[in-house]
Amino acid sequence: MEASESRKKVLLFPWLAFGHISPFLELAKKLSQNNFQIYLCSSPINLQSIHSKLPQSFSSSINLVELNLPSLPQLPPHMHSTNGLPLDLISTLFKAFEMAAPEFSSILHKLNPDLLITDSFQPWAIQSASSLNIPVIPFSVVGAAVLAHSIHYILNPNIKFPFPEIDLMDHWISKRHPDIFKNPDVSMNLFLQWVENMKLCSDVVLANSFTEIEGKYLDYVSEMLKKKVVPVGPLIVTASDVANEKSDVLDWLDKKQPKSTVYVSFGSEYYLSKEDREELAHGLELSGANFIWVIRFPKGDEMGIEEALPEGFIERIGERGILVDGWAPQLKILKHSSIGGFVSHCGWNSVVEAVVHGVPIIALPMQLDQPFHARVATAAAGIGVEVKRGVDGAVVRQGVAKAIKQVLFEKTGEDFKLKAKEICEILKDKEGQNIKTCVAELHQL
Ligand code: UDP
Repeated sequence: MEASESRKKVLLFPWLAFGHISPFLELAKKLSQNNFQIYLCSSPINLQSIHSKLPQSFSSSINLVELNLPSLPQLPPHMHSTNGLPLDLISTLFKAFEMAAPEFSSILHKLNPDLLITDSFQPWAIQSASSLNIPVIPFSVVGAAVLAHSIHYILNPNIKFPFPEIDLMDHWISKRHPDIFKNPDVSMNLFLQWVENMKLCSDVVLANSFTEIEGKYLDYVSEMLKKKVVPVGPLIVTASDVANEKSDVLDWLDKKQPKSTVYVSFGSEYYLSKEDREELAHGLELSGANFIWVIRFPKGDEMGIEEALPEGFIERIGERGILVDGWAPQLKILKHSSIGGFVSHCGWNSVVEAVVHGVPIIALPMQLDQPFHARVATAAAGIGVEVKRGVDGAVVRQGVAKAIKQVLFEKTGEDFKLKAKEICEILKDKEGQNIKTCVAELHQL
């Protein structure tokens, strides 16, 4: 028998956002190194970028499978990825994705995988696989805190949530997005369907997390779902896979003192409002710290960095700061010894990457699940501080400056650094153990 014939065929199916595809791709690499034959399904536009990132060594063990989405007039094929997509079209993309369910079923039918590993953002895929008797493993790429909170308020709305530090029902975020937090008919719907579809899934749920920072939330999710929740994190891009990335920013960082600089980024999807951008700029200026700031604009709304910032800002900061247009080599920056803190929107990948590199977080969450992740990093893991906001949750310069100073220059910052280093060392010691457990579980199915 050919070696590939004896290998379990696993189909991985992430939601169409970079922050979801990235951990799925890393899981794909790990599983392919552990004797699984991997198929990764996404839209053609996402597959193009996956193909360009996938090291040659995986070309025969990870197969890319195209899922064509229907072309809605407001969503032509070049928008079948959240990258650069204006926020108001995200719900249309969700719709188009769901409309591709019949095509996904036919992929399942033809490929007939031994296992489907699918994201929590498309509960319909669970039904497709289950109707063909294909075992399904859900894989959640958000923090376990988010799962704990969402599932609790779906299953036990009248019981007190056991973790006050991540209970955000009265947080500014829930006032700004009442649909998401208070109305189970709207966005909780996604989780609701996901939880309902759990009965169609295997007994194992994978989570891109690790017990060192989310142990109690992972346990609670497991208890509520009555499933074994296997943490497979931290899943971040292997250093050797980005070894050739070059950037002026890294040369600039080489000239800075150890731990003297903050890295400022809001991930691959979020765009700051004009007001928030200006307050952040003033906050960085007031903080006195060196900084690297990645600034992004949505497609069709590009403007020059200079005109997007307060007048005279660039001249005033001089050599103290560097602005990056669009995209920075985040992992290499976080690994650099001159970095002393990460001003982050707290997308889960960013939090995980900061933890792995032992970098304290200055949390400035903006939307969706980010405030939960901010609390995990600060209140639960103790590796940073959250920026204090003004009235109605507005970003204010004093809050930004104070949090940066605290982490970079004050005694509390030392505690954050020690804690971050401690967790980072533990993770190094147990590297690969979570994947080993996951592989053992998948082989048993
Ligand atoms: N990222 C990067 N360079 C950038 C911005 C983001 O490499 O300039 C990467 C970052 O390392 C992380 C991902 O993009 O892996 C962002 O994921 P996260 O979950 O933090 O946020 P999202 O983009 O999903 O909001």
